[in-house]
Amino acid sequence: MLSVAVACAPVAYAQDTTTPIRDGIPTPEQYISTVGGDSHLVAPGEFKLDGRTQYCGQRPTVIDNKLDDYGAAYPGFLIMNPKLLDRVSTPVKQWIYAHECGHQFRGPDEETADCFAVQRGRRQGWLKPDGLEEICTFITPAKGDSMHFSGSYRCEYMRKCYEDPNIR
Ligand SMILES: [Zn+2]
Repeated sequence: MLSVAVACAPVAYAQDTTTPIRDGIPTPEQYISTVGGDSHLVAPGEFKLDGRTQYCGQRPTVIDNKLDDYGAAYPGFLIMNPKLLDRVSTPVKQWIYAHECGHQFRGPDEETADCFAVQRGRRQGWLKPDGLEEICTFITPAKGDSMHFSGSYRCEYMRKCYEDPNIR
């Protein structure tokens, strides 16, 4: 998960208190029945951002326009909020998806998910240096904000990852 206004607390690996779920990890169907509304499941390889198909292995994507963040992840599936994603540029959208995908393959650590996402973007060709700057603007709140340091720090780390030829 990658909250902008608050610290990037991974909903993904936190307890969902609204429904009794085995091991604290819902299936996509359990998640959908819990949040209701127009939430729905998109099969692996069928989720698109600005017309570009997004892949995260065999993980499906749950669409949830009421999610309190742009994206989130539970082990086994990703959650995307198109209502919020519509506000950001294509590279930022793809970075958000890749960040949540990073949690699938690398676990709950936020820096590791950030690094996974920018390296994937560089490798796949959709993340150029100007896109990286858009991501930095996106995660670095206005000056004076208490989270400013956190956003800047994540950004510095991502710039290093982006330059690093070794995959982390
Ligand atoms: Zn995250």
